[in-house]
Amino acid sequence: MSSDEQEQDETDRAPIPSAHQQPVTVTTGKHVSRRRFLGAAASGVGLAAVGSVSGVLISRSARSAAAPARTATGSAATGSSATHQWAMVIDLRNCNGCKLCTTACERYHYLHQDQTWIHVFTMQSASGEQYFMPRPCMMCEDPPCVPVCPVSANFRTDEGLVLVTQQRCVGTRICMNACPYQARYFNWSAPVPAPRQPFPQEPAWPVPQVEGTVGKCVFCAAMLPSGRIPECASYCPMGVIYMGDLESDVAVNGIGNSVTLSKFLTENTAVRFKTTFGTHPRVWYITGHGQTLDTDKEVA
Ligand code: SF4
Ligand code: SF4
Repeated sequence: MSSDEQEQDETDRAPIPSAHQQPVTVTTGKHVSRRRFLGAAASGVGLAAVGSVSGVLISRSARSAAAPARTATGSAATGSSATHQWAMVIDLRNCNGCKLCTTACERYHYLHQDQTWIHVFTMQSASGEQYFMPRPCMMCEDPPCVPVCPVSANFRTDEGLVLVTQQRCVGTRICMNACPYQARYFNWSAPVPAPRQPFPQEPAWPVPQVEGTVGKCVFCAAMLPSGRIPECASYCPMGVIYMGDLESDVAVNGIGNSVTLSKFLTENTAVRFKTTFGTHPRVWYITGHGQTLDTDKEVA
């Protein structure tokens, strides 16, 4: 990449384009700008988490008292004192299959083309309807990829992120087999060369990737503390991908919509993928077209 291209690249990655900073009216939740979400998330001030109608969320103090119980929709009450509990909502009603989320992620993290941290499947529902289903890492609350690692290279943070220490990974690929979502891949070849990065190479920012190790989506973990939503969410022109915080009960997408997370999930009957595996994903899907996800067919 030339220096001009790099400069353009950085410009393209401006964290919050000005058009995205405007509060946007949404019908499903509180009207808060992305900045307010970020401010609330950063300060740990819950906007609506206490006693939410959905039962998805409970306050931190309630979590401490109740841990490790699960809420009505199956999200764990961890009892963690972490400021954030990260989650994602993917609104399938608006996904047009353009894959800009995939390419933005790939470009930002200097990945090979087949290393899709967020993969967009073309699906067919039982009634024959075609739709698109983006699949990041599900950041499972009970991640089967973690305990199987013989060298403890996989771990889950107290903010709910499942990460890989690539410097520790010895490449057995057992975790790839354990993941029911095929969210992991193996680095068979040398990584795409990356210029100097904004963060050190670490589990929260595995750029460049490490040959001979396993990689996967990290929810752009290194960017979250500074208030930036993941690259896939930023670049989705349809506002499909919402980054949320179960603690502050707010989620935002890349086109300026902010919602009360618990309300958004219940009002739209959000579901999780492959629930029979007992993984309790931190990614919810809004289907809207009667899809069942678990039984629909992947056609491409
Ligand atoms: S960028 Fe948005 S609309 Fe396009 S495939 Fe990804 S989630 Fe769907
Ligand atoms: S989706 Fe797969 S890689 Fe991600 S946490 Fe769950 S089991 Fe692990």
